[in-house]
Amino acid sequence: MEECVFCKIIDRKIPADIVYEDEYILAFRDINPKAPVHILIIPKKHIATLMNIKESDRQLIGNIYLAAQKIAAEEGIDKKGFRLVQNCNEDAGQEVFHIHFHLLGGRKMAWPPG
Ligand code: 5GP
Ligand code: ZN
Repeated sequence: MEECVFCKIIDRKIPADIVYEDEYILAFRDINPKAPVHILIIPKKHIATLMNIKESDRQLIGNIYLAAQKIAAEEGIDKKGFRLVQNCNEDAGQEVFHIHFHLLGGRKMAWPPG
């Protein structure tokens, strides 16, 4: 089976602009940014979609939020605000089937999303 693009980034088989890394999590700048700050935060464990998250992943998913706090502060968008978005499956426009949280900021966001 062809390895997924985000697993390749984790394994350093393809390059990325990495902004945060710990034992379980990696964060890097989106290749096609939709905002001045657009960072993808991913678990190093391959999980295809939000629907595949298991009870045993509770701590991992919680830690992604704590990583998001740190990154938002480092990027200087914590006070003005930002959005943390996860797309699940076709209607939401999920393109990469390795879960990722889009950390978007640096501009005013519209609501509702398109
Ligand atoms: P999705 O639509 O699945 O929620 O978002 C996938 C995101 O991954 C898109 O915003 C897309 O620009 C980004 N992306 C896809 N391939 C790569 C890549 O090889 N490197 C980086 N940095 N971002 C990627
Ligand atoms: Zn993967």
